Amino acid sequence: MKYVDELRDGATARRLAAAIAAEADPDRGYRFMEFCGGHTHAVFRYGVPDLLPPNVHLIHGPGCPVCVLPVGRVDAAIELARRPEVILCTYGDLLRVPGSRRSSLLRARAEGADVRMVYSPADSLRIAREHPDREVVFFAIGFETTTPPTAVVVRRAEAEGLANFSVVSNHVLTPPAMAHLLDSPELDGPAAPSLDGFIGPSHVSTIIGSAPYEPFAREHGRPVVIAGFEPLDVMQAIRMLIRQVNAGRAEVENEYTRAVTRVGNRKAQELVSAVFAVRESFEWRGMGSVPGSGLEVRPEYAHLDAERRFGVAVGQPRENRACICPSVLRGAARPTECTLFGTTCTPDHPMGSCMVSSEGACAAHYAYGRTRERAEA
Ligand code: SF4
Repeated sequence: MKYVDELRDGATARRLAAAIAAEADPDRGYRFMEFCGGHTHAVFRYGVPDLLPPNVHLIHGPGCPVCVLPVGRVDAAIELARRPEVILCTYGDLLRVPGSRRSSLLRARAEGADVRMVYSPADSLRIAREHPDREVVFFAIGFETTTPPTAVVVRRAEAEGLANFSVVSNHVLTPPAMAHLLDSPELDGPAAPSLDGFIGPSHVSTIIGSAPYEPFAREHGRPVVIAGFEPLDVMQAIRMLIRQVNAGRAEVENEYTRAVTRVGNRKAQELVSAVFAVRESFEWRGMGSVPGSGLEVRPEYAHLDAERRFGVAVGQPRENRACICPSVLRGAARPTECTLFGTTCTPDHPMGSCMVSSEGACAAHYAYGRTRERAEA
């Protein structure tokens, strides 16, 4: 297939749906997690669940970098932004994520903090050049896909000798989080999702390749199929997962061969490892502390690390107890199980992080899933 329309073709989707129905064993259930928020968005947008037999379930995972940032780190960003010498730069979605006591970066800006929305890390570097008398901090978030551009600006700032620029790294890693979902005792219990396999992230995999998932599939006995973001990609991945489950296999397969290779982008990987080191552990919203899942700026670039430079401390947050984002993020609850969904909490007035980004499960469900549920009712 060469054009995007071909990957959204209705007739092909119906044929694929029939093949899935024929191959799915009616005597068992299949529960597959789409780890990545981009897949969650595609699943809702194109009504993929409507094309699946009732015993094939899709569970939404934690793969939205805005959603998984814990409230304590949002609070830390707000505190940093309130320093008079600081210009805090970050991506637009993060401005709206609620911190403790319904605070947010947007609210801090309304109260006088200098918070600027940027489209890329390079924008924050430009702002640092334009304001040599201020401290410009880039509050970086994202999975493996967005880490290389942050590494580029760290190297660039070093090369230019920019003394007023630094970065808070909230970059996180996918494979350790997938493993943590399955083998963490604190996520166990009746509300924990039982999963038969994963639809693996696609953008992330263009950088890291498919190989890093191989130990996970082997050790946890769960298949992983890396899929693109189009509806036929997702459906084909589901079919491949069903085949693996039926055959008792747990391997990594790549449906997204048009963009992902086994080894990924070596140049980007080298750049990231030159600038960042793996943290012992990192806190994920909904999953707690996940070993080896975050990146920090290497000591060689300590002067460009805002966490060291400003002594950024992550305190005890005050969570909104009615928001069940943590359960939604680990696949233990559906957005509609939240009492605030669609009433107090909407994309215009988000009460939790899952309603902020379009990749968040609550926002995707609000945009596309409600219509289907109304029709069913
Ligand atoms: S509906 Fe809103 S408050 Fe409820 S879980 Fe989703 S984001 Fe959180």
